[in-house]
Amino acid sequence: MLLTHKIPITPTAEQEKVLWDLSEKCRLLYNFALAERVHHWTTIRNKPANQRPLITYFQQQNALPALKSKYPEYTWVYSKVLQMTLRYLDADYKSFFARWRRGDFQARPPRFKGKNYFTTLCYNQSGFALDVDQRQIHFSHRHPSGVKLEFTLPWLPPLNGCIKQVDLFQDRKQRWFVTIRFEMRITKYVDNGRYQAIDLGVINLVTAVNLQGRFLQIRNRRPDLYWKDKLRQVQSKRDHCKKFSNKWHFYQRKWMKMRQRLTNQLRDFQHKVSKVMVTNTRANTFIVGNLMVKKMAQKKRASRNRRQDTANRTLNHSLQSTGFLGRFVQFLTYKARKVGKRVIRIDEAQTTMRCCVCGSVRGRWLSERFIQCDCGTSFDRDQNAAVNIMVRFLLQQPPVNGEPLQDFLHGLHRHTALPHLPWVADSMETPT
Ligand SMILES: [Zn+2]
Repeated sequence: MLLTHKIPITPTAEQEKVLWDLSEKCRLLYNFALAERVHHWTTIRNKPANQRPLITYFQQQNALPALKSKYPEYTWVYSKVLQMTLRYLDADYKSFFARWRRGDFQARPPRFKGKNYFTTLCYNQSGFALDVDQRQIHFSHRHPSGVKLEFTLPWLPPLNGCIKQVDLFQDRKQRWFVTIRFEMRITKYVDNGRYQAIDLGVINLVTAVNLQGRFLQIRNRRPDLYWKDKLRQVQSKRDHCKKFSNKWHFYQRKWMKMRQRLTNQLRDFQHKVSKVMVTNTRANTFIVGNLMVKKMAQKKRASRNRRQDTANRTLNHSLQSTGFLGRFVQFLTYKARKVGKRVIRIDEAQTTMRCCVCGSVRGRWLSERFIQCDCGTSFDRDQNAAVNIMVRFLLQQPPVNGEPLQDFLHGLHRHTALPHLPWVADSMETPT
């Protein structure tokens, strides 16, 4: 499994100048290569589809030596880094084509990079040296100034595996980072017969139930509620200033900073909870409802065009979107894989609406925290969904000795006031 760690570095002024020079060469190369592709396309676009070969990555890579002999300043950059720049252009095009073919007509082709854009320097497999004991990393280059690109890392994660790639870049706030991507040896997954079904939500981030019928519920932390009014105040002050004046920029920076803190707090909490979920259980398999990721992506794009005002009003809606929960599932998945566990996604349609005792399906309001069913059941909404996910998963399983479903129903009966679930017994007798 590939894992990436992002570590801050502090280059000196001289080093920064070298980095910018190297980045500039990569940026120009990216733009030239892109221009070549665009120009090539305009010459062949009117031909029939089978007679228009596109420029490939290897054609552009093979042209690099000629470019270097004509313009020697391109030899400043380590050769693999230049190649990786072309690779990224190729990857940008491929992802654009793939999205277009899937029918996503909002996809746009790669664009030219502007002059203040720092092009990430990708050292793929070679060109860097990492001294683990001294926590020092060294990058190769041939800049005429001869300044060494050597940085001390403030911390280094345990790297038990071989390093595939090191990237050097500057983010939007002019902070410098290296990311170390390495292949991690993972423990092999074994199905140990213990499962945990998880229902995700906004009020309770996690509601889990195991085969013994025991529940675990973790309430979501809501930093967005704390920041909502503060953000609105700053925004209102900003909007009373002349646009792009010094005062306006002051409030804008303040607003961005607060937004950043909010997103950091949300992400931090998700990291912590997913870590706890993975380590604090003996279950090797987690069952999660499949979220509709695509739907949420479209929603996000539409909201970008709306006024800022609306964006702020829909702040807590961002929590209710599946993107927020989708990220949590991502965290859970990779943390589980690291220790040889597995996350299985199943279709979660109707798991909230179905009463887990009698099996009747009814639409429910989001405010209905306790479901009140006609059969007389009163049960926590999220726990009900978790039980339904578990039951659905176990019903899909081929029958094995030990009968996990029977165990689960007994355990559930013991730990909750619920009666046995008659509808589950019915659906077991008539397998579909
Ligand atoms: Zn019912």
